[in-house]
Amino acid sequence: MRCNACGELIKADAFEAVKEWGYFSEKDLEIHRFNLCEKCYDKITSSFEIPVEINIKKEVMGTQ
Ligand SMILES: [Zn+2]
Repeated sequence: MRCNACGELIKADAFEAVKEWGYFSEKDLEIHRFNLCEKCYDKITSSFEIPVEINIKKEVMGTQ
């Protein structure tokens, strides 16, 4: 898998986005997919007007 922004091979974890555009867009029924390495993800999301919502995943403990 390669990062769509910088083209580098992604060895670690990466951001993956898939969007199926609907009838009311100009991309009617197109499916768009791209990956971003962590560096590019940070660069792009840091330019957001509203920051990314971050939640910490809780470890699921055993039931017993
Ligand atoms: Zn990248």
